[in-house]
Amino acid sequence: MGGFGGPPARSTRSETVRSRTPVTRQLRVAVVGAGPAGIYASDILTKAELPEGFESVSIDILDRDPTPFGLIRYGVAPDHPRIKEIIKALHRVMGHEDIRFFGNVDYGTDLKLDNLQLFYDAVIFATGARRDRDLDLPGIGLDGSFGGADFVAWYDGHPDVDREWDFAPDAQSVAVLGVGNVGLDVARMLAKTADELLVTEIPDNVHASLAKNATQDVHVFARRGPAQVKFTPMELRELSHSPNIDVIVHPEGFELDEGSMDAIRASKSQKLVVDVLQNYLAKEPTGAAHRIHIHFCQNPVEVLGEDGRVVGLRTEVTELDGTGNAKGTGEFIDWPVQAVYRAIGYYSDNLSGLPFDQVHGVVPNDGGRVIEIDGTPLPGAYVTGWIKRGPVGLIGHTKSDAAETIRLLMEDLDTLTPPEHPEPDAIIRHFQTQGIQYTTWAGWERLNQHELELGHTHTHTHTRERVKVVPRDDMVRVARR
Ligand code: NAP
Repeated sequence: MGGFGGPPARSTRSETVRSRTPVTRQLRVAVVGAGPAGIYASDILTKAELPEGFESVSIDILDRDPTPFGLIRYGVAPDHPRIKEIIKALHRVMGHEDIRFFGNVDYGTDLKLDNLQLFYDAVIFATGARRDRDLDLPGIGLDGSFGGADFVAWYDGHPDVDREWDFAPDAQSVAVLGVGNVGLDVARMLAKTADELLVTEIPDNVHASLAKNATQDVHVFARRGPAQVKFTPMELRELSHSPNIDVIVHPEGFELDEGSMDAIRASKSQKLVVDVLQNYLAKEPTGAAHRIHIHFCQNPVEVLGEDGRVVGLRTEVTELDGTGNAKGTGEFIDWPVQAVYRAIGYYSDNLSGLPFDQVHGVVPNDGGRVIEIDGTPLPGAYVTGWIKRGPVGLIGHTKSDAAETIRLLMEDLDTLTPPEHPEPDAIIRHFQTQGIQYTTWAGWERLNQHELELGHTHTHTHTRERVKVVPRDDMVRVARR
């Protein structure tokens, strides 16, 4: 990479006054990923006490999406406006004078670690996890077998996902595998009516596709018992808030063995979840048009197909073994379903130039300092959030991660190699010479305003808070106007 001649003016001036005043410079940090993990880390960094030698910090947050906020924009369900409120706090951080945003920049394609190290003292990766973890089952590749993360990205209007969802006209019964909060989101979004979701920020194409969704019965399968589910109480309670949905907990497999009682005693939240499940178990259905069924002790073993399309799911009945785990009984059940959604956890992308732990789907690290698989440190590279500890935990949990990563970065500052091109414009010149159509914070503010206006001028009967722009080119055009 050429075109970055001469040392920055500040170092030249510093040389001449070195004998009288200590040399100070700006700490330059790149954060890859503008989701909550990257923004929390940046916030903590702006407040960190800098060691001698650094007069200030300047942070550039890069994201492959043209927009900031990562999984809050493209992972939180549209009918969860309370969680989306977190954006307000993140918005305040992004407006900080020491932070810049560069969107539509794809790490690994547009630039890599060695490029970034020309411009920054340190690079913090906060790229999260967006893909579905693989599930190796016969039939998993059939038409009508979907990843929950793909469905989430679709209904949240991610630009890189096809506009149309493949709702088969006869898919009245569908299966959801996994009993975490993503499983709940998927089940709820499948069971709600399209019009119920019209008050949310769903894009128009999502509303039009959802209107063709024929689902009446969503069967959610847990491979263990009620005390082992990963739901959180509030999200589980909320399932029944729709007048169009009955939540039906099936008694078969609703077992609480000694291991389950230990789990309930150890966690107030787990106890609350079991209480909510027990309430559902005792409740008579209201006759609502759509039903979410929750089944316990059913381990999915095969997706059944005919002519290349899903026609059923085979599960093996399990029983709890007293330790919190379950074992197969050798009894199998075939469930007639016309679509299967696996919501068994997210998986992170491998990042160019960084080691990757395939088993846990994380970048190997020691408290946030990136290390090679053999434990050798990779100087100047850090991780935080799901890429650091795996795809578990609520959004707020990522703050403590970020605090640890920034503390270690501060400890390392004296040992880091200063960048060759620390001047803030150098990265912009790089984008320009590479023809990268990057977006900025001011661009996001324009796009944000545009989406809010679309909501208010919407032609449906409801005024909507926002209507999301979906195609990448359209977002970039509005942002770069
Ligand atoms: P998760 O909480 O880890 O749940 C994954 C589920 O998949 C578990 O029930 C797991 O069962 C099951 N599973 C894994 N492998 C399986 C297999 N081979 N066959 C059958 N079931 C299998 O993951 P998540 O739902 O993706 O959520 C990720 C994080 O995001 C969580 O911390 C979640 O709370 C958070 N989140 C929060 C919200 C919200 O509204 N607050 C929304 C979405 C996500 P086992 O336990 O038996 O392994």
